[in-house]
Amino acid sequence: MMDTDVLIVGGGLSGLALADELHRKGMDFQLLEARDRFGGRIHAAYVNGAAFDLGPAWFWQEQPRMAAATKRFGLTVFEQFSAGDIVAEGQNGNVRRGAGFASMAGSLRIAGGMTALVNAFATAVPADRLHLGQAVTEISQSKTGVIARTDRVSISANKIILALPPRVAQAITFDPALPADQCEAMGNVATWMAGHAKYLATYDKAHWRDAGLSGDGQSRRGPMVEFHDASPQSGGPYAVFGFVGFDANTRAAHRDEMTQMATDQLERLFGAKPRQLILQDWAQDTLTATPADHISGGHPAYGRPPALTNIWDGRIILGSSEMGQSFGGFLEGALEAAQDVGNLLRQG
Ligand SMILES: Cc1cc2nc3c(=O)[nH]c(=O)nc-3n(C[C@H](O)[C@H](O)[C@H](O)COP(=O)(O)OP(=O)(O)OC[C@H]3O[C@@H](n4cnc5c(N)ncnc54)[C@H](O)[C@@H]3O)c2cc1C
Repeated sequence: MMDTDVLIVGGGLSGLALADELHRKGMDFQLLEARDRFGGRIHAAYVNGAAFDLGPAWFWQEQPRMAAATKRFGLTVFEQFSAGDIVAEGQNGNVRRGAGFASMAGSLRIAGGMTALVNAFATAVPADRLHLGQAVTEISQSKTGVIARTDRVSISANKIILALPPRVAQAITFDPALPADQCEAMGNVATWMAGHAKYLATYDKAHWRDAGLSGDGQSRRGPMVEFHDASPQSGGPYAVFGFVGFDANTRAAHRDEMTQMATDQLERLFGAKPRQLILQDWAQDTLTATPADHISGGHPAYGRPPALTNIWDGRIILGSSEMGQSFGGFLEGALEAAQDVGNLLRQG
């Protein structure tokens, strides 16, 4: 059994940013991440050495913590490519092109993908504090604190920070069980974007740019409904990505057929079939989404729900992006939540 003051469960952006904060304040902590990689919803496909975002791709000007983090780590920030016409596909497959507003114009990307930010945070923390492949399955109370168990280790801590979506945290067995109102409140926090899927289409040439298209587009026919250029800041391979409009169950049941339809759709909208087409379906990822997230809606009002402010007398604190008061759900919200938890821990 290992002992620590603060145990962080989850090595996505919120967990890593908190680890970095505690390290800088000289506090005692350990972090357990279930997957064999850090980043959680931040994930990339690597094609010919270039990273392509399969989760979040953008942050925005008015997000101070993302600006500070990219500056601190010396990451290159560039604007979403948006020069050129947009395309719109009707229900019958007719494609119109024309001048129009690229919906993500002005949004900011990170050279090397969002994983560059994850890697920077992970590198800033001593490696012996971060543990991959450790899924917490049980958390119990002890006389002096809390004990978390994975199938390999048991760690006793003073406090546990659940830096993972509250719905995903419900897969953990709590002993004693959490009261009904807390379970209900956790189940009510929708995990931002967890029900979504993205196709990433890579090409040797940005033929749409050569044809005067921005790569931005919309479709009423599908399978993809919203498209954006996803190429690296400079050089190739080039890419567009599209959010899939089909619901999670349809996607799971008709994956191959849908991928063929997506290939044809890219040719209709942008003039060529991709060299490689990669599907990232977050709804099927049980460390991100639960069945409740298969129905996606608009951006909820986030922040720490009153019922979840004092779990086990403050021994358990929720800390994913969804706990962010002002930017909940976003990357900025993950940094906000980490800062908020850091403040709570310092207050004792
Ligand atoms: C398709 C998509 C597009 C998005 N686009 C944007 C965007 O453009 N801009 C933006 O700002 N935001 C976007 N988001 C949201 C953004 O990804 C999240 O706000 C952010 O990544 C959340 O970070 P987090 O650390 O709070 O949670 P997560 O990234 O979900 O991290 C939680 C971590 O906990 C781990 N975990 C789960 N269960 C356990 C367990 N039992 N034991 C140990 N570890 C566990 C998981 O493996 C994961 O690594 C997007 C999300 C998706 C899915």
